[in-house]
Amino acid sequence: MNSKLPNSGTSIFAVMSAMAKENNAINLSQGFPDFNCPDKLIEYVHDFMKGGFNQYAPMQGIPVLRKAISEKMEKLYGKYFNPEKEITITAGGTQALFTAISAFVHKGDEVILFEPAYDSYLPSVLLNGGIPIPIKLDEKKFTIDWENVRSVLTSKTKMIILNTPHNPSGTVLQQNDIEELIKIVNDFDLILLSDEVYEHIIFDDEEHLSFAKYEELASRSLIVFSFGKTYHTTGWKMGYVLAPALLTNEFRKVHQFNVFCVNTPIQLAYAEMMKDEEHYLSLPKFYQQKRDYFIGLMKDSKFTLTPSKGTYFQLLEYSKLSNLSDMEFAKWLTREIGVAVIPLSPFYSNGTESKYIRICFAKSEEVLKAAAEKLSKIKPL
Ligand code: PMP
Ligand code: GLN
Repeated sequence: MNSKLPNSGTSIFAVMSAMAKENNAINLSQGFPDFNCPDKLIEYVHDFMKGGFNQYAPMQGIPVLRKAISEKMEKLYGKYFNPEKEITITAGGTQALFTAISAFVHKGDEVILFEPAYDSYLPSVLLNGGIPIPIKLDEKKFTIDWENVRSVLTSKTKMIILNTPHNPSGTVLQQNDIEELIKIVNDFDLILLSDEVYEHIIFDDEEHLSFAKYEELASRSLIVFSFGKTYHTTGWKMGYVLAPALLTNEFRKVHQFNVFCVNTPIQLAYAEMMKDEEHYLSLPKFYQQKRDYFIGLMKDSKFTLTPSKGTYFQLLEYSKLSNLSDMEFAKWLTREIGVAVIPLSPFYSNGTESKYIRICFAKSEEVLKAAAEKLSKIKPL
C-alpha cells in the first residue's frame, strides 16, 4: 500500500486511552474532563431536539450562534468579526485546523510549526502536499526562539501555525512573542493559523493574547476555538474559526465539502449557553485550583513540575526516576503503577527523546489524589 502518511501510526491519545482501559489504570492521558458539562446545556440540547430542530444547519453555522460569538469576541478582545462573512462553525477544532490547512496550503508550500506540536498539525500539512518546517521550542522553557523562525523563512513559506495556551507544554505566548511575530508578518506575506482552543484555561493572572487583539495579526489569521474545552464537552466535537472575509470565503469552499455543516440542536444550545458569561469567566480559577491541588500532592515525589500556565495539562520531568525513554516510561507507568499518561516524544516529528510525560488534570479531586499517591510512591528505577 502506498500510504499517504507512511510515518503515522495510531494517535498516541487513542493508544494510551486504550492501554489505560486494558490495565484498569487511572487515565490522565488523553485530555478530557471526567466531570459533566453544565446541566443547563444538556437541557437546552434536549429542548431543541424535542422542538424539532433536527435537520441540517446552514453551511456556515446557525446565525444566532455566530452572532453570540461575534459579541463575545468584541467584548473580550475588542475586535468585531462579521457573523455573516467572518465566522464559521466547525466539527471541533481539529476539523477547523485541517480545513484551514487544506484551503491554503498548495503542493510544495512550506508551513512552519513549533515542536512539541499538537499531533494533527504535521499530518494535515503533509496530506495537502505541504512541507512541514518544524522548529523546536526551548527544551526546558518551551519558548520560541524568533531568530530560528527568521532563519527558515523563505519565499515558499505559506503559513505559520501557533498554539497558545500550548498543548502539551502549558506555556502561553507573551507580548514580546506577539511583537516578534508582527515584525515577521510585516516583512513576509504569510497566513497565520492560531490554535486558541484553550483561551479560557489560563492561570496566574496571565492574559490570553488572542491574535484577534492585534490588527496586524488578525488581518491574516484564521483563529481556531473549541466549545469542547470551554464547556466540558469534548465528545460533542464543535468549534469555530474566525478569519477576514477573503480567508473565510476560501475556508468555506473546503468546509462545505469536508462536513457541509454541523449538529443543529447543539449549535442552538451553545448559543443559549453563551449568554452566561460567568461559565467561561470562572474557568481560569476552576482549573487553576485543580492544577495547584495536583502540584501540591506531588511535592514529595521525585518528579519535577514547573507549573503549567494554561491548558489542562501539566508536564512531569522524570530524570531523577528513570533512564527509560518517555514512551517506555509512560507504558511502564500505565502497566505497573496504574496511571496512564502521555509521553512527549510523539509531539516531535523526529521522535526527539525527552524525559517528560504529560498528565491531564481536568479530573475530580479524588482521581487526582489517587493518581498523585501512586506517582509519589515511585522510587528511582
Ligand atoms: N488543538 C489543540 C492544541 C488541542 O489540544 C485540541 C484538543 N484535542 C484540539 C486542537 C482539537 O479540538 P477539538 O477536540 O475541538 O477537535
Ligand atoms: N487534545 C487532546 C489531548 O491533547 C486529545 C484529542 C484527541 O484525542 N485527538 O489529549
